[in-house]
Amino acid sequence: MSSCRAAVWTGINRVEVQERTVPAPGPGEVLLRVRAAGICGTDLHILSGTHPQAKPPLVPGHEFAGEVFRTGEGVDASLTGARVGVDSYRGCGECPYCRSGNRQLCEKGTCEFGINIDGGWQEYLVVPVENLYDLPDSVSYLEAGAGCVLNCPMAAVEMVGVDAGDNVLILGDGPSSLVMLQLVRIKGAGKIVVSGHRQRRLKLARELGADQVINTHESGLTDALGELAGRMHVVVDAVGKSETLADALMVAGKRARVHLFGLPEGPLGDLPMDEFLWKELTLTGSTGAPSLWPAAMEYLQQGSLNVSPIISHRFSLEQAREAVDYILSNPLRIVKAVFELS
Ligand SMILES: [Zn+2]
Ligand SMILES: [Zn+2]
Repeated sequence: MSSCRAAVWTGINRVEVQERTVPAPGPGEVLLRVRAAGICGTDLHILSGTHPQAKPPLVPGHEFAGEVFRTGEGVDASLTGARVGVDSYRGCGECPYCRSGNRQLCEKGTCEFGINIDGGWQEYLVVPVENLYDLPDSVSYLEAGAGCVLNCPMAAVEMVGVDAGDNVLILGDGPSSLVMLQLVRIKGAGKIVVSGHRQRRLKLARELGADQVINTHESGLTDALGELAGRMHVVVDAVGKSETLADALMVAGKRARVHLFGLPEGPLGDLPMDEFLWKELTLTGSTGAPSLWPAAMEYLQQGSLNVSPIISHRFSLEQAREAVDYILSNPLRIVKAVFELS
């Protein structure tokens, strides 16, 4: 085995399956055989050319899982064959953020698989051993390959802080929101409301534990919230647009925590910033949290977090081009798509 296949982003919304040389792991690294790799909303930003850090040609895929195929120098050889998930942030390993387990904040700049270095939409790739986390036997490659819908909402919930009884509003019906609502339920939230405009996802949100869903194409947010408007303790903007962040500030209660989670395509502006003063609001933001993977695995193992219903479509890597075309032309049908590699 000297060559392998990779799905390569070559230009705006263009993906080609190409042959690549299988790399050798260096010191402290392993060669991973990828078994599942997710297709995330962030990947759609990348493919459309609107992600500020991604430039073609690039192998996307910042969420992936597989088995250790070969170990490099200094890595315990008994890891060979281990089922693992991969954290996508490749830090410098030396700065204070990397040393405290916060590689997503590395002082040398973001270096992330599938964003600005080749990622998991390929059969084999080399990853540092410290980026690996163990998959419990009961967690499938497919579930772990859904990746950042597990880790990023964990980071958001941790950062914003959810206390028992808090009313939580999540703006946006993406797959991460469908996980986040389960995480805030685990934290003992009071009323959980999810807003969006994709019927299939809103129905799933109800099934997964949201107390109320709001279709923003059918009714205004404030009207639909009724007496909960101005009484939300936590509001998460999982869309990342000026309009949704403005909505978040307007419906937040006094002393509420507002969290920016959705990936903005650029600076956000024209916001009712005076709300911060009148309501004594706090704003936080998050990207991912490498240290929270084991906790996510534990939730999955216990069954308190259920990600399988969110995985709506599976594709083979050979179908990469069709997969991307399908996802772009069927935004109402897709919830979460994952590449499955044999
Ligand atoms: Zn992602
Ligand atoms: Zn660093």
